[in-house]
Amino acid sequence: MDKISTVFKKTHNVLREKIRNKRMGHQSNTAAQPGEEKTGPNSESLRQKGAGVHPQSPCGHILKFPNLINMVNQCLKQKSLDFICPVCEEQWNWSQVRGQLLLSQAQTVVLETQVNCIMQDLPDVYKKCPVCSSILRRPMDSAGRPCPFSSCVLCPYTHHFCWSCLAPWVFPDAAGFGQCSNRSCHVVATLLACETVTDSGSSVVGCPVFRACPECYTLTTPQSNSKYTSCLECAHRFCYICLDSETECAQREEDPYLRPACKKPRAERQKFIT
Ligand SMILES: [Zn+2]
Ligand SMILES: [Zn+2]
Ligand SMILES: [Zn+2]
Ligand SMILES: [Zn+2]
Ligand SMILES: [Zn+2]
Repeated sequence: MDKISTVFKKTHNVLREKIRNKRMGHQSNTAAQPGEEKTGPNSESLRQKGAGVHPQSPCGHILKFPNLINMVNQCLKQKSLDFICPVCEEQWNWSQVRGQLLLSQAQTVVLETQVNCIMQDLPDVYKKCPVCSSILRRPMDSAGRPCPFSSCVLCPYTHHFCWSCLAPWVFPDAAGFGQCSNRSCHVVATLLACETVTDSGSSVVGCPVFRACPECYTLTTPQSNSKYTSCLECAHRFCYICLDSETECAQREEDPYLRPACKKPRAERQKFIT
């Protein structure tokens, strides 16, 4: 009777409820938490009491800086973005962890780079919510298989999106499992999950091995040793790094055909809905 979207909403609500209960528990009944009874001086230093619900911490626990950075470094070393509160084991999102860290801009860039590398390496496990950009872990269905769509607990409203291409996931009939609304789902899935060019001699090193033609969305790969590439479908020539047309990109360069780099930063992985 329940269609998948309803089940999803229920799970979502149960999760919200769980989080709320945990918060209440921590606020009103801290001393009675059995796990926290054995708080020696060491665990005590893990948290600052009485903080209540912190905007950056879903469970209300605020870790002291050395403990927090230690937890973050251990996760990143294990190539994981599953940040867990050491006091109550509530899952923390990267944006919440980053909000507590209060690092300098340079330090944030270093950590963000590591986080992005992990996301890049594990597109089947982590994706960014297409609405709020929070990093999400792929949900599993009741049989323990990766779910083809996801929702975001951090967005203020419930929405479902396709895990492969991030387009809205729709439920055309009440009994159905739903489907991706994007006709280019396979193309975008490839663009978001493909490997990157690792050959340091290539002028497009670091770019995804597939780009879509900005004019007709046909998949292309780098050609010869130039940053400019021709679409095999419509012959549009564009820069594989910045995705501008060859004319636009070359105008900015003094010697566009000798200088391999592009003046504009590398364009993000492409995603679009058709
Ligand atoms: Zn906690
Ligand atoms: Zn979101
Ligand atoms: Zn899709
Ligand atoms: Zn084209
Ligand atoms: Zn360019």
